[in-house]
Amino acid sequence: MPSQPRLETLAIHAGQEPDPATGAIMTPIYQTSTYVQQAVGEHKGYDYARTGNPTRTALEACLAALEGARHGLAFASGMAAIDTVLKLLDPGDHVLASNDVYGGTFRLFDKQYRKYGITFSHVELTDLEAVRAGLRPNTRFVWIETPTNPRLKVVDLAAVAELAHRHNPAIRVVVDNTFATPYLQQPLALGADAVVHSTTKYLGGHSDVVGGAVLTSDQALHERLQFLQNAAGAVPGPMDCFLVLRGLKTLPVRMDRHGANALAVAQFLADHPAVAEVIYPGLESHPQHAVARKQMRNFGGMISFYLKAGPEQARALLTRTRLFALAESLGGVESLIELPAAMTHGSTQGSPLEVGPGLIRVSVGLEHVQDLIEDLAQALTP
Ligand code: PLP
Repeated sequence: MPSQPRLETLAIHAGQEPDPATGAIMTPIYQTSTYVQQAVGEHKGYDYARTGNPTRTALEACLAALEGARHGLAFASGMAAIDTVLKLLDPGDHVLASNDVYGGTFRLFDKQYRKYGITFSHVELTDLEAVRAGLRPNTRFVWIETPTNPRLKVVDLAAVAELAHRHNPAIRVVVDNTFATPYLQQPLALGADAVVHSTTKYLGGHSDVVGGAVLTSDQALHERLQFLQNAAGAVPGPMDCFLVLRGLKTLPVRMDRHGANALAVAQFLADHPAVAEVIYPGLESHPQHAVARKQMRNFGGMISFYLKAGPEQARALLTRTRLFALAESLGGVESLIELPAAMTHGSTQGSPLEVGPGLIRVSVGLEHVQDLIEDLAQALTP
């Protein structure tokens, strides 16, 4: 490896060496639950597979390298990763979060951790005055998604991290980097303390695995998280680690194409007479377009939009696309379309984070962009 490998090189090589036993260029799937010891407590670095597995070690090292982190931990899902970070909190702690987050994250905050005496407030993190006003003496985490799910708000990571740390250096700024991936944006370099991922999405990239990760350079934070990873045990199996490792190798080329396809699809939608509003950070009409330009390499593969005709027609449109599959999730090679209010964000209904019934979210895949545009065109004008 070169002394300062670039991200494209790290995505293929970081944490991975040809297998010393066979020369296999791909990290083997170490499908084992335990490891033989030479004497009590004397082993080759692994004693039990909840605690550690070499395929997982390779994935954790690769993910850490991509985020510019010293440490990486892989989990059984994005929610398992988020849950593990939340376990660091104590009763009486406060979390300042965005007023737009993934529905599953909100559900875990609201339905589980609130009952442990932890308070969550959801503010407009794109407004620095609102961030300043929202910070409390007992704020432990600032929880950021950017772009947010599903409204694709873009939070100025450097500005919010600086503000939070100036308020209280003990605050940990946690960024869910699932939508952007480390190829498009690196929160730790912008001042965040930890990054969480659903590796189910762009990092895996092929809609064939569920996984999560936490990356940090904070040694104390890492050690506490590692303790929880082993103590609670929400770890990914070796086959799943292998699939994410394989997906990571093509992350940079996939993200380039996701971004290019999404920009073209967003422009098509913005010009379409049936469309009321398109939300895509790459459009100049996006309220935080300048921030996105500053902190992201391209604007990602996610687009949200509203039809002029309203929610009933939005639901109907979702049954008319042929290439865009009607399904939850995102970040795979296939294009997907969904209705957050009724699908991914059902848990926000009746809360201040409620997603409107007419919002349509698409994950723009890697099919030919003209085929994607033609599919939306036929679905928009039945
Ligand atoms: N974070 C974001 C932004 C997500 O969109 C999701 C899932 O959609 C998650 C976390 C949860 O990840 P998982 O489904 O892998 O548990």
